Amino acid sequence: MKMLVRKRADVEEWTHDIRPKVFKFVEKLKLESSICQPNYSGNHKYQVRGAGDKQYVVNIENKTCACNKWQLIGIPCIRGISTLLTSNRDPYQFIYIKYKKESFLKAYTPVIYGINGPSMWPKTNDKPIQCPDFKKHKGIPKKAMNMQPDEVRVGGKTKLRRDYVVIRCTKCRQEGHNWGTCDRRAGMNGEASETVARTEGGTVNGYQPSQESIHVGTVPKRKRKKTNTVME
Ligand SMILES: [Zn+2]
Ligand SMILES: [Zn+2]
Repeated sequence: MKMLVRKRADVEEWTHDIRPKVFKFVEKLKLESSICQPNYSGNHKYQVRGAGDKQYVVNIENKTCACNKWQLIGIPCIRGISTLLTSNRDPYQFIYIKYKKESFLKAYTPVIYGINGPSMWPKTNDKPIQCPDFKKHKGIPKKAMNMQPDEVRVGGKTKLRRDYVVIRCTKCRQEGHNWGTCDRRAGMNGEASETVARTEGGTVNGYQPSQESIHVGTVPKRKRKKTNTVME
């Protein structure tokens, strides 16, 4: 309602019979169209040469230009304007009707009338409308969420399944086992490497958990390493 009033007032203030934005655009094109050279070839068709080597065919009767701009936006392109001015026609007569003032007025003229408040409404003897009754549905109510196919439940929590993850050892780069169960690691001198590791800021054997091993969850446990040291 408010919008209609505002728009209607706006449209009535237009000084031209066309949308102001379109008017500005056409005026600009009129000035720029002097670079085009239209030549009449007959049957309402013109051959228009523009800037550079560009050349297009303009048909005044069909309101078309070979560049397709006129057909697309409904406003003559620079070549169309040039042709219309050369043939002593008004470019505003060749603009799509929806840009015209009469079309906008037609759209905004219908009036949405205001209404009185509820205190002014006529009263009836019928019961006031109530909410529908609550209806208990059949079956046991659902409490748990549906688990995804790749989820597993561990200790009351869910986590991603490891079925589809290929485990790769960070020591020998082979698939199928991890750092903790690697054969190469078993053959190493645990004591010597452990001493080196302790000096390097707490990392075991200079081991840095790579992105890959974090992903597959094969970071070795410190606890296990410690028991090895005691044994040796
Ligand atoms: Zn064109
Ligand atoms: Zn390995």
